[in-house]
Amino acid sequence: MMDADFRSDTVTRPTAAMYAAMAAAPVGDDVLGDDPTVKKLEAIAAERFGQEAGLFCPSGTMTNQIAIKVHTRPGDEVICSHLAHIYNYEGGGVAFNSGVQIRTGGDAYGRLSANDVHRLVQPEMDVHAAPTRLVVLENTANKGGGTSLGLPLLREVGEAAKSHGLAYHLDGARIFNALVREGDTPSDLHFFDSVSICLSKGLGAPVGSLLLGPKDFIAEGKRIRKRFGGGMRQAGYLAAAGLYALDHHVERLAEDHANAQRIDGWLSQLSYVVERKPCHTNMVLFRIESPGGAPALQAHLAAKGIRIIAMDREWLRVVTHYDVQEAHMTALHEALKSFGA
Ligand SMILES: *Cc1c(COP(=O)(O)O)cnc(C)c1O
Repeated sequence: MMDADFRSDTVTRPTAAMYAAMAAAPVGDDVLGDDPTVKKLEAIAAERFGQEAGLFCPSGTMTNQIAIKVHTRPGDEVICSHLAHIYNYEGGGVAFNSGVQIRTGGDAYGRLSANDVHRLVQPEMDVHAAPTRLVVLENTANKGGGTSLGLPLLREVGEAAKSHGLAYHLDGARIFNALVREGDTPSDLHFFDSVSICLSKGLGAPVGSLLLGPKDFIAEGKRIRKRFGGGMRQAGYLAAAGLYALDHHVERLAEDHANAQRIDGWLSQLSYVVERKPCHTNMVLFRIESPGGAPALQAHLAAKGIRIIAMDREWLRVVTHYDVQEAHMTALHEALKSFGA
C-alpha cells in the first residue's frame, strides 16, 4: 500500500549523503566542550544569521524555552501571536520553566504588527501589571498556515519592541522556508536579539535545533540547557547532519513550496473545502464542511495509505517535504477527489 506521509516535514529520513556525512564526523564530548563538529555547526549558523554565538540543542522547543528563560524573570510577560508555538505547543513550558505569562495578539495567519506591540505592552510604572520583557515572532507561522511574515514586518515589530526596551526573539523553526520564499538571506535577520532555528523540519536532519545570539546570552543559555537536561555528548554525529542540511537542503525547499501550491490548487476545486489559509510555503491548512468533519477526511486518506493531520473538527493540515514523491502527490490528489463520492 501507498505510504505517503504529509503530516509534517519532521518525518523525513536522512539521505544516503547525509548519513555518510554523519558517519564521517569527528566527534568529542560536547558537554566537556570538545566536540569539533558541534562547534563548527554553532559557529557557521551564528555567522550566517549575523549573531555572535550558537548553541546546539535537541529540539526547537528547548531552544525557544532557553531563550525565554534567559530573556525573562518569573512574573514577567511575553508578547506573541495567539497562534504561536510557544503558546500552543510547548506544554505550558513558558509557565513551567520560566514562570512567565503570555499576552497575545495578531491576525489569523500568525502575524503580529508593530501596533500590536504598542497596544499590548504593559505600563511600566503600574504595579498591577506584569512587566513586559519579550516579544516573540514566529516565521514561518506554523498554525497560521506556514505564513511568511516578510522582512518589513519583522523590522517594524523589532523597532516597536526596541522602543519599549523589550527583547526580541525569533522562533525560526521554519525560517529557511521564509527566506527561500522571500529571496532573503539569514544575515538580513541580524536585528533579532536571539534566533531559534530547526534543522529537523524542512531541512531534513533527524534531530537538532540551534539557538543563536550574543556571546553572553549563549553562555547563560548553555547553563540552562544543562539544567533542562539537554547537554549531549557525541552530538557531533547529529550536528554533522545539520551542517549537511544547511549546505544542501535549503534551496530545494522551493520544491516543497511548489508541491504545496499544487495541493492548494486541487483543494480550491473541491466543494467540501470551504476555507484555505494563504499558502506561502510548505503547508496547506484548509477547513472542510462534511458530516464526519475533518476526522472523516483524515480516515478516508489513511485507508489509502496517506497520512495528514486533522487539527480539530474542521481544519486539516498537509505539509510537503523532501520525502514526498510524485506518486504520493498523485495518490493524494485522487484520494481528495474521491472523498464523499
Ligand atoms: C516544530 C516547531 C518548534 C519546535 O519543535 P520541536 O519539535 O521541539 O523541535 C518550534 N516552533 C515552531 C513554530 C515549530 O513549528
